Amino acid sequence: MSDTAHQQCVRGDCGATYAIDDVLFACRRCGSLLDVRYDWPRCGVPNHLKFFDARRMSHRPQDFSGVWRFRELLPFSPPDDLVTVGEGRTILQRADELARQLGVKPGGLHLQYEGFNPSGSFKDNGMAAAFTMARRLNRRRVACASTGNTSASLALYAGVTKTRGGEPIEAVVFVGGGKIAYGKLAQALDYGAKTLQIEGDFDACMNLIQHSAERLDLYVMNSINPFRLEGQKTIMYRVLEGLDWEPPDWIIVPGGNLGNSSAFGKAFIELQQLGLIQRMPRLAVINAAGANALYELYHQHAVRFCEGHWPQKQIDEYFKEWTTKHRCAKTVASAIEIGRPVNLPKALRALEAMNGVVRQVSDEEILDAKALVGRYGFGCEPASAASVAGLRMLLADQTISPADRVVCILTGHALKDPNATVEYHSGGSGRSSFAAYANPPIAVPADIEAIAAALGS
Ligand SMILES: *Cc1c(COP(=O)(O)O)cnc(C)c1O
Ligand SMILES: [Zn+2]
Repeated sequence: MSDTAHQQCVRGDCGATYAIDDVLFACRRCGSLLDVRYDWPRCGVPNHLKFFDARRMSHRPQDFSGVWRFRELLPFSPPDDLVTVGEGRTILQRADELARQLGVKPGGLHLQYEGFNPSGSFKDNGMAAAFTMARRLNRRRVACASTGNTSASLALYAGVTKTRGGEPIEAVVFVGGGKIAYGKLAQALDYGAKTLQIEGDFDACMNLIQHSAERLDLYVMNSINPFRLEGQKTIMYRVLEGLDWEPPDWIIVPGGNLGNSSAFGKAFIELQQLGLIQRMPRLAVINAAGANALYELYHQHAVRFCEGHWPQKQIDEYFKEWTTKHRCAKTVASAIEIGRPVNLPKALRALEAMNGVVRQVSDEEILDAKALVGRYGFGCEPASAASVAGLRMLLADQTISPADRVVCILTGHALKDPNATVEYHSGGSGRSSFAAYANPPIAVPADIEAIAAALGS
């Protein structure tokens, strides 16, 4: 099995290759990111996507999983050794009322609810794949830096996974001091992760974990781990499945560490190479305005992938300025409050392959969009709503037409960050601007007539 997959540096003028179970999170030669690559002709890939339909009715764990149902498209492990907790049974929901509110034609807007995963965010797609690799490598201690959801997912999987030798797996999570949403912190604690509250923000945690992995014998489960991204490719397979395998015109996703953007690009590049789709959707990556490194690099510095020859020096200069100016990411959408996205080059590759666009949206726009998703759908956490806020902006600037078929990815569950929601609706946040869709609780005396008056009847 192992010789049908390997790891490869994504940098065009390097391209160094490594064995599949070589543990490294950057190219030894040039320091760039690594991809998982396959020798496709030997992987038994079906010749049409409808092949996967039959598995939806199966109760075998590797068929029930919305990740491993597509195992021929991420074939780095033998099928009888896959880690799953039933992830990826998510919903692609047609959202006509929201479409009407935003000015998209009926049937043109779908929402992909990744919050309906076991730990409540899309991260489970990636963890299923990364834990499969951790098990294969017989690693006892897994770790991540996290704004919350990665740690929740890591902790959940560690709690129910054993090494090949039957030993428990220890989860260690690095969270920035005080910033984490309580729904997420609660999960990490409850699932038994060793939770380290580090002085500093996410970027500081990420930097620390990258430099301490060897000393502390940590297997790093952030999205610099290329196996994580293999699992997250399946979000796109399920979107296609939900649309009867017909690619939409647009995929819109929030951009934080840019793991999803990168994984989505890889998924579609591979599907096209395999001849399984005839047309690429376009990709829109939406930054929060307070965490907009991708947006600035893309628009103000015209940084592009350039077929693998992206201008790394220019990017390094840009981030050096963040350091000298003590710039820190700041947004209400804590899951995308990331200053230095580790997957930047891969996201640029996705944007190149999918004729993509990048936008930034304000916290107010995010929270208003979140309220709309709650009002006309099943709700989501703030970061997720960046996709819908981005759609609104792309309709307004006529990048997206009302006749386009659009899928917004909702990355996390509404209950992850109830504080943000209650503050928005009750106007108690001290936010200066007006919350357009606020639905404040109404104080009423315990009196039937008073209640009748409050109900307007
Ligand atoms: C992790 C996360 C993101 C950011 O995704 P990236 O792949 O890092 O860009 C967005 N929303 C939620 C809810 C998340 O948990
Ligand atoms: Zn390299």
